[in-house]
Amino acid sequence: MMKNATLICVPIMGETVEKMVLDIQKAKLNGADLVEIRLDSLSTFNPHQDLNTFIQQHHSLPFLFTYRPIWEGGKYDGDENRRLDALRLAMELGADYVDIELKVAHEFYDSIRGKTFNKTKVIVSSHNYQYTPSVEDLGDLVARIQATGADIVKIATTAVEITDVARMFQIMVHSQVSHVPFIGLVMGDRGLISRVLCAKFGGYLTFGTLESGVVSAPGQPTIKDLLHLYNFRQLGPETKVYGIIGKPVSHSKSPILFNEAFKTVGFNGVFVFLLVDDLANFLRTYSSTDFVGFSVTIPHKESALKCCDEVDPVAKSIGAVNCIVRRPTDGKLIGYNTDYVGAISAIEDGLRGKLNSSGTAVSPLAGKLFVVIGAGGAGKALAYGAKEKGARIVIANRTYDRARELADVIGGDALALSDLDSYHPEDGMILANTTSIGMQPKVDETPISKHALKFYSLVFDAVYTPKVTRLLKEAEESGVTIVEGMEMFIGQAYEQYEKYTGLPAPKQLFRKIMENY
Ligand code: NAP
Repeated sequence: MMKNATLICVPIMGETVEKMVLDIQKAKLNGADLVEIRLDSLSTFNPHQDLNTFIQQHHSLPFLFTYRPIWEGGKYDGDENRRLDALRLAMELGADYVDIELKVAHEFYDSIRGKTFNKTKVIVSSHNYQYTPSVEDLGDLVARIQATGADIVKIATTAVEITDVARMFQIMVHSQVSHVPFIGLVMGDRGLISRVLCAKFGGYLTFGTLESGVVSAPGQPTIKDLLHLYNFRQLGPETKVYGIIGKPVSHSKSPILFNEAFKTVGFNGVFVFLLVDDLANFLRTYSSTDFVGFSVTIPHKESALKCCDEVDPVAKSIGAVNCIVRRPTDGKLIGYNTDYVGAISAIEDGLRGKLNSSGTAVSPLAGKLFVVIGAGGAGKALAYGAKEKGARIVIANRTYDRARELADVIGGDALALSDLDSYHPEDGMILANTTSIGMQPKVDETPISKHALKFYSLVFDAVYTPKVTRLLKEAEESGVTIVEGMEMFIGQAYEQYEKYTGLPAPKQLFRKIMENY
């Protein structure tokens, strides 16, 4: 059942009519509600013949015709009369929608006055490729567009920061109250949530592309992601918003995991990518009860500690927060650290398997020398977790001072990363990489030479893209037990899911979903 009325429009941008016709068919198969035919992308365009071909022969979906001039970010560089003639013709032939730029809208309406085009809705559009104006200026722009007689208002701006999108949402909600069909999209990677959450806030349509990267405006997701990753049709005003905050963030698997779990158990939530520059500003801006839970990754885990109203004691001792939940009773932000739980228990299981002993009260980590590479959020979490289990801790970090600082807090030793290869005070040590070394795309990198791995009995890598890093491959080749970062990922996700939803995490489902990635 549909929970929102927001349409999904696939932009069609072929150089030939034949290619466009094929793409229209693909769009239909993919579940589009309409297509935007970008006439300015055609290398040659014969209005009578080509518009007839589209409308008479291939009208399998509603058509929006756009003939974007260079001065508004499109490709058309010819005579204005010819351009507007083509759009008038599209209306005569029965186009469902045409897009007219605000700059020429009055002139266009003057030229069609007295004629009736029962079918066609006119979208009057304005594009800002530099920034997103203030709420007041956006409101003025909506009023100017409405004053042209537009059937639908379209405003596309650019996100310099993700917080810019909040202003578009504000205008969108306001437009809904005043019953003006409104398309409000914020371009660029930082504007991605505008393209997903417009279904929650009442946008008229969003764009979804056929292929990733083949976009008509920066930041468009694919229609597949809209429908299958974000469960777009299920989103509605009551949908709660969760997300992963990071920079970069697009590599995260959390949206796949959480959205799939939400869908399976019928939980009314959506989990989005949040490319955030300034965490405090982000949390201040998205302070409504619609935004209820955030996972936090690089480089914001430490600043997250300072941005929460209350912090769980474990997260406080670790010095990093990777999970923020808005308390329903008073809206306060509570910070947790769920990072280490999954990793530490997977390492214990790995060691137990090796020792062939089943779960005893004493952790197999007790008394072991545990070398943590990295002193960031994940490093602190693992060092803290292993210390709790009775291990002796050594921190090796690129920036020695940070290693020293963490070692002092935790009661361990510090090492410069460059000394790691020659470090072997004893055999049977445990190694945990918590830096991003070896992460995609730099999969050839590793934090330690292969020859030094023989001093370890178990190697864990927090990196989980790829699943088996060069470090883990070389450890396995050296006969060392390995534990993949995916175990940590799934472990922290269990904990977060329960905190976000108040429901028990679907553990088997998590494992099944992640097996495919
Ligand atoms: P973070 O707080 O930014 O810390 C990054 C750490 O990596 C710092 O110690 C930093 O050293 C070091 N580092 C970064 N680039 C390096 C390089 N090129 N050479 C040497 N050292 C480098 O990040 P984080 O949140 O702890 O995350 C670290 C990694 O763990 C990421 O790859 C993340 O994806 C992964 N992770 C995985 C999971 C999971 O569930 N599997 C959970 C959390 C994190 P300096 O102090 O010298 O800058």
